[in-house]
Amino acid sequence: ASFIYLLGFFGIDFVQSLILRPQTEVWNSEDDDEVADVLLRKEDARKVPCGQALDCSLPPLPPPAPIVTVQKVLDEKPVTVLTEEDEEIIKSVVAGTTPSYSLESKLGDCKRAAAIRREALQRLTGKSLEGLPLDGFDYESILGQCCEMPVGYVQIPVGIAGPLLINGREYSVPMATTEGCLVASTNRGCKAIHLSGGATSTLLRDGMTRAPVVRFGTAKRAADLKLYLEDPDNFDTLAVVFNRSSRFGRLQGIKCAIAGKNLYLRFTCTTGDAMGMNMVSKGVQNVLDFLQTDFPDMDVMGISGNFCSDKKPAAVNWIEGRGKSVVCEAIIKGDVVRKVLKTTVESLVELNMLKNLTGSAMAGALGGFNAHASNIVTAVYIATGQDPAQNVESSHCITMMEAVNDGKDLHISVTMPSIEVGTVGGGTQLASQSACLNLLGVKGASKESAGANSRMLAAVVAGAVLAGELSLMSALAAGQLVKSHMKYNRSNKDVSKASS
Ligand code: ADP
Repeated sequence: ASFIYLLGFFGIDFVQSLILRPQTEVWNSEDDDEVADVLLRKEDARKVPCGQALDCSLPPLPPPAPIVTVQKVLDEKPVTVLTEEDEEIIKSVVAGTTPSYSLESKLGDCKRAAAIRREALQRLTGKSLEGLPLDGFDYESILGQCCEMPVGYVQIPVGIAGPLLINGREYSVPMATTEGCLVASTNRGCKAIHLSGGATSTLLRDGMTRAPVVRFGTAKRAADLKLYLEDPDNFDTLAVVFNRSSRFGRLQGIKCAIAGKNLYLRFTCTTGDAMGMNMVSKGVQNVLDFLQTDFPDMDVMGISGNFCSDKKPAAVNWIEGRGKSVVCEAIIKGDVVRKVLKTTVESLVELNMLKNLTGSAMAGALGGFNAHASNIVTAVYIATGQDPAQNVESSHCITMMEAVNDGKDLHISVTMPSIEVGTVGGGTQLASQSACLNLLGVKGASKESAGANSRMLAAVVAGAVLAGELSLMSALAAGQLVKSHMKYNRSNKDVSKASS
């Protein structure tokens, strides 16, 4: 909607000139004030799907085809050719004689397996997968690592916010999102930070956690193990056992919690440039095996007992940290607050107190003392191959704002105790995600020092969140948000028709 508004308001030439203008010039120019006004009209959540906002009228839905023939698929894009032999395999998958999951191992060709599975699925369901691309993806790269039983891949656009200046270095931040204005808004925050001399990011802690749950016959025995694990004299032995699992996983500590006869053992370890869930789990398994000798009555009920805590809102991460704990700050000059962010230091500080602190307290928030950290975290996570489900705790953030320098300037900070990121392992090695990491200069394992790349990525995440907070809060403080949503972001489409 904003894009259309831009076209209408400024004319296409102006918008093109914005898009084509070199970035340094964008930061130095003051003539895009009006653009900043427009770009920032963004609430915490999108009101209409991006496609609708851009009014890319959807083609009428195809009539429900009971069975999509091979030929029909080939007619659309004759890239993946299904042979007669394939046709036989498709039939056997449809009939249930060949399990869909076995196609990769049976055929030894991941792309062909995906094509056959996809066709069988279309026949079985009578639904077309047109629009979900099959070609143009390396299916070998996800085998056994990232996704089972693939039938295609979802396309998500990647936008760039930046340059984001953190600790004296510039980063172009890739954001994969379908939320209109999110990148533009973050970009405006980056501009304000840049014009004010940049942000400073500090790593407070770096350790991934895993907490198995074990059970004993009595609470006393559970307490015995707790005392044993927390005794500093035993730490060295346990660390040696734990550290056997990897060159990078180094045990930092074990924190225990008891519930009756059950004990939760929260192990924390460094994980180099990996996000580290696999690594920490292997180390934990080593220790559990080792403990079985002295505690034969210990029943391991689960390698993860939720005291870790992974992908669930939990106070333990908010208080103790998980992954990278980062604080990122900047002093935004009063001039920049006025000219770029279109508001005042005073109103920002007041709104931050009322919304991010008091409002979140009223809502009983857990780590949610911010405006929209998860918007930025998730977009960067998807672009760089992180586990997007970890946005739950990675988005924990308290945004603080204070007037400094006799009230002239704004001190803003984001404190994020549980940013879970890696630059090796998981989805990071896939071509698109790897390209985004490369853009940030943090692709793969750091050659200088293990963990430096993932720590830098965490700093970028926090910096981008700082930019996002600054920008959205300013739009809100300027009192334009609701007004602009009503005016420019309202769908005229009848959504019920499309969904039916
Ligand atoms: P995760 O623990 O995040 O799930 P993986 O186990 O998938 O990650 O990936 C980590 C793997 O990458 C391990 O096998 C580890 O030995 C290897 N590796 C290579 N270089 C590094 C590094 N610099 N930091 C961490 N792991 C690394």
